[in-house]
Amino acid sequence: MTVLVTGGAGYIGSHMVLALTDAGQDVVVLDNLTTGFAWAIAPQAKLIKGDIGDEALVEKIIKDHKVDAVIHFAGSIVVPDSVVDPLGYYLNNTVKSRALMAAVVKAGVKNFIFSSTAAVYGNPLTQPVFESEKPAPISPYGTSKLMTELMLQDSHLAYGLNYVALRYFNVAGADPKGRSGQSTPRATHLIKVACQTVLGQRASMDVYGTDYPTPDGTCLRDYIHVSDLISAHMDALAYLRRGGESGIFNCGYSQGYSVLEVIKAVEKAAGRAVNHKMVPRRAGDPAAIVAGATRAREILGWTPKHADLDFIVASALAWEQHLQRRNAA
Ligand code: UDP
Repeated sequence: MTVLVTGGAGYIGSHMVLALTDAGQDVVVLDNLTTGFAWAIAPQAKLIKGDIGDEALVEKIIKDHKVDAVIHFAGSIVVPDSVVDPLGYYLNNTVKSRALMAAVVKAGVKNFIFSSTAAVYGNPLTQPVFESEKPAPISPYGTSKLMTELMLQDSHLAYGLNYVALRYFNVAGADPKGRSGQSTPRATHLIKVACQTVLGQRASMDVYGTDYPTPDGTCLRDYIHVSDLISAHMDALAYLRRGGESGIFNCGYSQGYSVLEVIKAVEKAAGRAVNHKMVPRRAGDPAAIVAGATRAREILGWTPKHADLDFIVASALAWEQHLQRRNAA
């Protein structure tokens, strides 16, 4: 039994590979290394450099390695970029996922875990938002992921492909053992940008929009530590392998923080001010999105352990300092 992890050299994928290999599982990674790093992959896993859209390659990997489960992370993840380049996002996230799924179905693999996103909800009508809410994405990124969820639903009915789609809220933080973290130099995600700014790698950072209908006018998000997100995948994998029903699960803590609260948490962790300026809204951003996440606890048995913004921020900052030392060496 081998797990195929697509995008296993990326931020979240590399943490998945660490958790799987820590648990003694056999892992093969398929990654084109456009944004990921070979060094981030646990040494016990085998890396195959290639494209998830290459059906023949995926089929060969599945046969050669006796793959019984696929965990699919590979894709593009920056909401505003998807607004500028929607067709690029539909290609990477939707068209290539379709090719991957076709190869998986053809090769007879039955278990599929998919990295979906809270962006499928758009501006939800309820907070916290539960999985029963009708998806209404407001960015091509959210739509590109929703289309893959729909392909999974249909493939489950037609071909018996069993799946879990995990809708991630805002993932941050790093491996507590310091082996991986968010390493993309030009990352755009809030906690990473704020950590880089407090460490002086950026002169200043922008706060996108202060006129949202939220308590301080900046957007609210539900930040989740990467280790907890990965434990939800481990639970989902065990669940599918024991014959669990296919389904969709939110991954978050049901607690929203504003952009300004995150900046304050980074200032507290670093003991220094974060230079920032208020600028207009960024395209594609919902005002607030907070997870209703009881389903993952009840059905997958998920038990998050790090539901604490200060812990998440301290973990992200420690990784950023590690990268800074490594780059200086
Ligand atoms: N954000 C910000 N400045 C930045 C990066 C992000 O104000 O440099 C805001 C962004 O507008 C959103 C929130 O922080 O309201 C979270 O954005 P991020 O890109 O981290 O994740 P997303 O929710 O878009 O997936």
